[in-house]
Amino acid sequence: MHGTRLEDEAGPTPLTIGRQVRRLRLARGLTVQQLGEAIGRAASQISVIENGRRELRVGELKRLAEALDATLDDLLDPRPPSRRDALEIELAQIQDGPLYASLELPALAARKSLPDAAIETILALHAELVRLHERRAATPEEARRANTELRADQRERHNYYPDLEARARELLEAIDHRGGPLSHSAVSRLAGHLGFDLHYVHDLPVTTRSVTDARHGRIYLPIRGSGGGRRLVLLQAIAGSVLGHEEPRDYGDLLRQRVEANYLAGALMMPEQSAAEMLGRAKAERDLSVEDLRDAFAVSYEAAAHRFTNLATEHLGLPVHFLKVSASGVVTKVYENDGVKFPQDPLGHVEGQRVCRQWSARQVFERSDRYGIYHQYTDKPNGTYWCTSAVQTDTTGDFSVSVGTQYAHSKWFRGRDTTTRRYSSCPEPACCKAPRPELATRWDGLSLPSARINSSLLAATPAESATGIDRVAVYEFLQEHAPAVIE
Ligand SMILES: [Zn+2]
Repeated sequence: MHGTRLEDEAGPTPLTIGRQVRRLRLARGLTVQQLGEAIGRAASQISVIENGRRELRVGELKRLAEALDATLDDLLDPRPPSRRDALEIELAQIQDGPLYASLELPALAARKSLPDAAIETILALHAELVRLHERRAATPEEARRANTELRADQRERHNYYPDLEARARELLEAIDHRGGPLSHSAVSRLAGHLGFDLHYVHDLPVTTRSVTDARHGRIYLPIRGSGGGRRLVLLQAIAGSVLGHEEPRDYGDLLRQRVEANYLAGALMMPEQSAAEMLGRAKAERDLSVEDLRDAFAVSYEAAAHRFTNLATEHLGLPVHFLKVSASGVVTKVYENDGVKFPQDPLGHVEGQRVCRQWSARQVFERSDRYGIYHQYTDKPNGTYWCTSAVQTDTTGDFSVSVGTQYAHSKWFRGRDTTTRRYSSCPEPACCKAPRPELATRWDGLSLPSARINSSLLAATPAESATGIDRVAVYEFLQEHAPAVIE
């Protein structure tokens, strides 16, 4: 659930430490001036500390503990000293959260004149708002929550999954693949090794990318589709089968299976050892790029960018982010472990949000040569990032794929010498979310754009399955195509 309740917060925060300082100071009968003198700080600094507005270094904590005749453990005790402290800490926490920020209310300081009952009421209203947000779109919300959890897990692992790398290695050894691009015939050999025949058909059910007939050891694939895409679909089908995926029970299952199957497919197309060696050499020459990975393994830019995030932290020691954005600027897929702040909704979800117009992920659409590789530095509220973006096209239209990192790490990348630099102050509305005032004056009330309704806006996934797969069509398809043998 969403962490606004105090019990969720395990460790000490600047505010819990501040409250312990105040409790001990009052217990010792010290004024802020006296405590300030004891540690060589102005009285105003003591107030800043007690209000949790500054992170303390270990040396300062020790001096404070000594001056208060207390231990470090006393100061680091995360339990609020009193009921009032608990309320004030929780009030501060909800004001730091995305829901409160979305309300655009002024910050509310917990002054002495603010009664406990008022704080309790605000906390109760906030909890109810969270609950309503969660319920309002129960079904998509469940998917998005599962997705947000999954992303946190990926971040924790630096998007690197050793088990899946090991599976990929075993499978490639089994077909005696010696590195380099995995050809379509090598993928077919892999399918054969796993006991599958491939069948290319015209009438694959429209809700599927491929259908595996486990009864007869067959994988059905569409005849349409380009070579690279077709190889990926086949690898994903193989990966699902190798990983023993069953029909997903819920969105969490569905999304985890998709992440695992995509990961394994990527690790098969771009084997860890050869890809990491290649990237290591490029880093040594300060010439890292996603496009070289793409070209060396004959994959799409998106597949290469995604694979780059698997290997960047584990093998190159670089924190990175990945962003896939539609031509209208809406996020469809993200990953980060470099602290980049993606736009988020009041519940902290990123997919479906629109990214800043100043970001490279959107600027790449503005260029005349939109299918080349684009590089940009962006000054963001929490620091400068370097990003590289490329536009790709699929059946749903154009989208951009971006990989980026903090300024300090840009020195390893090709394209670091770009002179393109943009400034983003999002989520401040003045950055790019509101029309320029002079244009608003000119056009407010005098324009009537006709919206293109996104078909997924109204179409909730059919209730009978989490995947949207039409099982009636799939079973009829399998029956029709099954080999005519007596069983
Ligand atoms: Zn912006």
